[in-house]
Amino acid sequence: MILSQQKNSHKSNHKFLTFTHFLYNMSKPAFNKSQQQDIAKERIKILFEEAEKTFSKNKNLANRYVTLARKIAMKTKTKIPPELKRKFCKHCYSYLQPGINSRTRTRNGKVIISCLDCKNFMRIELKKKNEQTKNIPGRKSKSKI
Ligand SMILES: [Zn+2]
Repeated sequence: MILSQQKNSHKSNHKFLTFTHFLYNMSKPAFNKSQQQDIAKERIKILFEEAEKTFSKNKNLANRYVTLARKIAMKTKTKIPPELKRKFCKHCYSYLQPGINSRTRTRNGKVIISCLDCKNFMRIELKKKNEQTKNIPGRKSKSKI
């Protein structure tokens, strides 16, 4: 009795599983998640390179590259590398070119990037290995020039 019930439930379960499996396969991308993120990172990098190239000629196009890179990052849940995060304004998402539409300053171990387009600024904390030497006063300033 129990055995037949189990068999039955197994049967209907199997049907359900093949159906969901079918659906899953339909939406499943050709690459697995980490591969997809690797591709996404590569594309983001390329887009920022393109943005850098076109910025002097066409600022709007550069901004569109940034938007596209952000969309790819969001879609694939990929983090934009920190060195590229500094290259666009997180408020107005415009591509930032130091000396032209952005200003970079360091203060108290933080990088402050101000966007001249929207007059907002963002702070980036420097996280480096010299955190340990930071605790020892008067040591790092001389060794770091
Ligand atoms: Zn801005």
